[in-house]
Amino acid sequence: LHRTGVGGGGAPHRSKLALARYARKWKQLNTIQRKRIKKEEITRYTWINHHDVLAVYSADCAKRVLVYDGPSSNGIVQPCDPCAEVLNDKRFQNALRRKMPSEAHMRFSPSQYRPELLGAVWSMQTGVRQLVEMVRSHILYHKNNDIYLEFSRMAISGNLKGHEALLGLIEYEVRRFQRLSAGKSLCNMEYPHPINEVMNI
Ligand SMILES: [Zn+2]
Repeated sequence: LHRTGVGGGGAPHRSKLALARYARKWKQLNTIQRKRIKKEEITRYTWINHHDVLAVYSADCAKRVLVYDGPSSNGIVQPCDPCAEVLNDKRFQNALRRKMPSEAHMRFSPSQYRPELLGAVWSMQTGVRQLVEMVRSHILYHKNNDIYLEFSRMAISGNLKGHEALLGLIEYEVRRFQRLSAGKSLCNMEYPHPINEVMNI
C-alpha cells in the first residue's frame, strides 16, 4: 500500500471496459466517458485497499473475523474466507510482486492513478499546500525536474517570503552540516530567529 494511492484492484483493464461500453479505445474517450469508466472500474474491484488502516479487504468481505482467544493465541485474528482468498488471486500476487519504485521514479507514475485530492487534503492539514503548489508550478513552468535547484532558485528570488520558519530550519541544518563536516563542535551555534522562537516556547 506504500507504493500506490489507488483504492483497489482486480477490475478488468480500463481499455477493456472502454471497449465493452463504448466500443472505443480508452484514448479515444472524452472526459465524461473516462469518468464513467473510472466509476465502473471501482465497482468491479475484487479487492479494496484501505490505506488508513494498512489493510486489503475482498470486495465480497463477509465482515466477520475469526478471533482466537486461547492463552497461546496472542490475539491472532483470521480474516473471513473471501478476504483470505484475495491472497490466492493471480492479479493480487502480481501486484505484490511488483517492486517498490525509487522515489525519483515515483514521479513518473501515470497522473490518472495519483490520489491528487488526498494529497491536497494532507498538504492543507499540515499547512504546506501553498509551498508545495508553488514549487510544483515552478517545476512545470521551467520544465525543470531538479527540485533542489528549483527550491534554491525560489529562495533566492524571494518567492518563499512568509515561510521564514522553513527557511530558518534549512539554514540551521545547512550550517550544522557544514560545521560537522569541518570537524567543528556544535557548541555556541546560533539559531536563526524563527527556530529560536520555537525553542523558547
Ligand atoms: Zn473480510
